[in-house]
Amino acid sequence: MNMPLDYFVWAIVGQNRTFLVDTGFDAEVANQRGRTITHAVARGLNAIGIAPQSIEDVIVTHMHYDHAGNSDLFPNARFHVQDLEMSFCTGRCMCHGVLSHPFHVEDVKSMVGRVFAGRVVFHNGESTLAPGLSLHLVGGHTGGLQVVRIHTARGWVVLASDASHLYANIEDGRPFPGIYNLADMLEGYRTVNRLADSPAHVIPGHDPAVLEKYPSANHETNGWIVRVDLEPR
Ligand SMILES: [Zn+2]
Ligand SMILES: [Zn+2]
Repeated sequence: MNMPLDYFVWAIVGQNRTFLVDTGFDAEVANQRGRTITHAVARGLNAIGIAPQSIEDVIVTHMHYDHAGNSDLFPNARFHVQDLEMSFCTGRCMCHGVLSHPFHVEDVKSMVGRVFAGRVVFHNGESTLAPGLSLHLVGGHTGGLQVVRIHTARGWVVLASDASHLYANIEDGRPFPGIYNLADMLEGYRTVNRLADSPAHVIPGHDPAVLEKYPSANHETNGWIVRVDLEPR
């Protein structure tokens, strides 16, 4: 059975700083991949009052095309990636079509350019970026996939990204096909559950149910932008 997938980016809006988690992909890449953009990333950010040029920190959970695109949209940002993800997407594993296919080589080249421009912050394992905001290496799906833990008004929420594409993956221990290391993926479910206050605090990477469970960001964003810092329905 083919499960429908949604594609998300996330904004972490603090008192003084905003962090973006992943950058989505643009219309050209969507075309190449046979996907449909229902709402462009820039449009979504504008709808919640965030100008893309104002973003200073982007967390890239992993370098797959659907998480690391739109390379020109954030000219003033530094990019937070795991050491293992950069070595994974620029090294030997990319000689295998099965592993390289979900990467868009132009995104990888853009990130290498940022490395040389001093705009990448490398992380190795666990890092605290701000009070109540930390990164955690999980791997499994790719060599260096990281998840993001945020303290919100309802407690510790974890943006699992592709550590769990759908609720069913983590809830049933049933891996999504798209695996670099199965053992790390299974351990990742435990890590995510340990970091989140409850299963209702885990936000999977691609599950359309996320848009049904959480309240809309504002009255204009019904059905496409939700607030996961608020209680689910
Ligand atoms: Zn992925
Ligand atoms: Zn993905």
